Amino acid sequence: GTMLGKLGEKLRKSIKKLAKMPIVDEKVVKEVIKDLQRALIQADVNVKLVFKLSKSIEKRALKEEPPKGITPKEHVIKIVYEELTKLLGKKSYKLKIDKKPYKILFVGLQGSGKTTTVAKLAHYLRLKGYNSAVVCTDTWRTAAYDQLKQLTEEINVPMYGDPNEDNPIRLAKEGLNKFKNYDVILFDTAGRHKNEKELLDEMEMLSKEINPDEIILVIDGTIGQQAKSQAKAFSERVKIGSIIVTKLDGSAKGGGALSAVSEVGAPIKFIGTGEKIDDLEEFDPARFMSRLLG
Ligand code: GDP
Repeated sequence: GTMLGKLGEKLRKSIKKLAKMPIVDEKVVKEVIKDLQRALIQADVNVKLVFKLSKSIEKRALKEEPPKGITPKEHVIKIVYEELTKLLGKKSYKLKIDKKPYKILFVGLQGSGKTTTVAKLAHYLRLKGYNSAVVCTDTWRTAAYDQLKQLTEEINVPMYGDPNEDNPIRLAKEGLNKFKNYDVILFDTAGRHKNEKELLDEMEMLSKEINPDEIILVIDGTIGQQAKSQAKAFSERVKIGSIIVTKLDGSAKGGGALSAVSEVGAPIKFIGTGEKIDDLEEFDPARFMSRLLG
């Protein structure tokens, strides 16, 4: 899918406009900033973040001396690139499998794309040479077991679950025991409960039982900057090690979700860019931004 298509288009347009200006003075800088602001706010980037970015660009563009060999205009374009990239995080963080079995607990609300992402990650790990197994601990949604079973069968990854069991802790224990000789064990969890508090209670209990090496929070990128409060709610109860933002293909609010989540304190390690098994990408802010700005 086209990733954050509209935002990319608008940002590219304002940078092109800047590139065409005969000279870059304060007026031009301010105009470019206005264009950027409009594009970012339409992509649901938080107003405070947009304001901060505007200030940094303005200050740097008007005060910094361009380095030798770079024209003032190229310098301003470079500043725009750098400041936009900063919105998405400082550096890229990779998933490191440094233990066997490496236990990953997935958390996230129903519909976020969690189950799909578990299968995508198992597939990704396989390509990296790790054999992984999947455990379904969702006892709330009966279809969850079938969905995970089907997805894992397609990629030939073993999966444990029991649609007749109503205790997620028991499922987790059994799964741990069954798959202890695998490189990675991925635990899928419920995304819905009687209410949010009980869902978080269950995640806390599972986390105590499994003692995961990493907890991955899966967040739907189409919710835009709301992603931040969702991530906060989970991180107050369990230790989020990393985040995967899904559905960035064609989402108008993806930029808002990515920038909001990068403020939470846990790195975004992957993004979901489609419904297919290989629509999972390692997330690198600089590479992502340079692709967006084409
Ligand atoms: P869960 O309830 O969190 O386990 O969510 P699911 O894995 O069942 O996903 C919910 C819906 O989102 C399904 O229709 C998935 O195919 C879809 N989905 C998941 N990830 C992505 C993505 O990156 N892009 C798109 N377009 N759809 C996705």
